[in-house]
Amino acid sequence: MSSQLDRLLETVQKRNIDGSGLDLIRRAYIRAENEHAGQKRKSGEPYFNHVFETALTVAQWQLDSTAIAAALLHDTLEDTSYREEEMRKEFGEEVTFLVLGVTKISRLKYRGNQAQAETLKKMILAISQDIRVVFVKLADRLHNMRTLQYVLPEKQKRIALETNEIYAPLAYRMGLGVVSGELEDLAFPYLHPEIYQVLKKKLKSHLEHGEVYINRVKTKLIETLDRHPQIKVIRIDSRVKRISSLHKKLKRLDMDMNQVHDLIALRIIVEKVSDCYATLGVIHNLWPPLPGCIKDYIALPKPNGYRSLHTSVICLDNQPTEFQIRTQEMHYENEYGISAYWAYQEAKESKDYQENKAIFANALHANWVNQLKAWQDKIDDPDEFINSLKIDFFKDRIFVITPRGEAIDLPAGSTPVDFAYAIHSDIGDHCFGAKVNNRMVQLNHELQSGDMVEILTQKNKKPSTAWLQFVKTRHARERIKSMNKENIA
Ligand code: MN
Repeated sequence: MSSQLDRLLETVQKRNIDGSGLDLIRRAYIRAENEHAGQKRKSGEPYFNHVFETALTVAQWQLDSTAIAAALLHDTLEDTSYREEEMRKEFGEEVTFLVLGVTKISRLKYRGNQAQAETLKKMILAISQDIRVVFVKLADRLHNMRTLQYVLPEKQKRIALETNEIYAPLAYRMGLGVVSGELEDLAFPYLHPEIYQVLKKKLKSHLEHGEVYINRVKTKLIETLDRHPQIKVIRIDSRVKRISSLHKKLKRLDMDMNQVHDLIALRIIVEKVSDCYATLGVIHNLWPPLPGCIKDYIALPKPNGYRSLHTSVICLDNQPTEFQIRTQEMHYENEYGISAYWAYQEAKESKDYQENKAIFANALHANWVNQLKAWQDKIDDPDEFINSLKIDFFKDRIFVITPRGEAIDLPAGSTPVDFAYAIHSDIGDHCFGAKVNNRMVQLNHELQSGDMVEILTQKNKKPSTAWLQFVKTRHARERIKSMNKENIA
């Protein structure tokens, strides 16, 4: 057995994946390795490494064996001779559905039109239908960003922009704080090469002296908290501000580094919610808080579900310093968002979980629903939604893709003629045929979300009144009618 496969299986070992789940992962691994055999990435390494790393990330996010298998197979339909029918036979409907979803959203291309960014994010969710598709896509993008240095410079910029404007915010909205931050950081040097060099230097000199300082603060804090044995502290970490988030902040502060107080922040993880507030009291007793810098994201979570207490105080040497206080559960949810759902599924054996089950469940449901409600206020039944882990906001809309990767929003049941008119009246008027996913179809063919549609036109072609039998959009209908009136007149 290869060591890579061992590594993947080890990652899922402690979890509740049964024998058939492990077998599915093993079979998908072997299939993907065979299909990508001989293919190389721009870096010169085997292509298979990319799908392996994608699957490893999905496994680390605690997703199920179906999602891990789909991650292993995510590039086979587009980049190898492996066919959808073979996949369905070999791996079943669910894996195939996830792979098709990833293939579809990979066709969407963002070309820097700010106004379209929001729509595009919604489309990705709508096309995905199953939240696991988005997870696989984010893991895929994460690995592509980690290896972006090998790609042609022009392509680098487009992918970095798409990552920054579409995928990082999408990860953020899903509550995947760590993933969102890493994606932004990976994109940053390609989007702002000069600023990146300047900030890197500045950050380095600040951190060298910062580390010594933060250890002194930590020692003082531990000493003080030890005198309050009723507060159960799990651990104290420090985190360094990410370069992309530092840049956002500096833009608001006229690029004055001295005004940034949270370059290094201390993060205190405690057992219970009441410990969070007690710890805040201890800190404020020790060092005076800066006015306006206390943020209670426990009482008022951020729209993406983020929970924590933040405060900045005048600390040792009169230096402003930020503290973040949260429970273990909050921390895990802040970092891993929706995938924390799976983690809790697993933790349900533990005593702590049993005791707090109802609280966990309610908090998770509330977070999920709020997060996604922020996207679209169209969830019919939140509980059923949670159970199925499916996204179905856009029941009556479909999103199809032009050969250039632009998404077009149409009513469900639309046909190539509706698509043609949605692009341009001229294209509708002169349309004589259509290809869907590279296959010729009838003009009354019903389009599905994620279809790539190409319209064939002929200069002297005129719209036919027969089209009125099947078009769904008002624009197409009116245009066909008016063109035919003109012809009669
Ligand atoms: Mn890929």
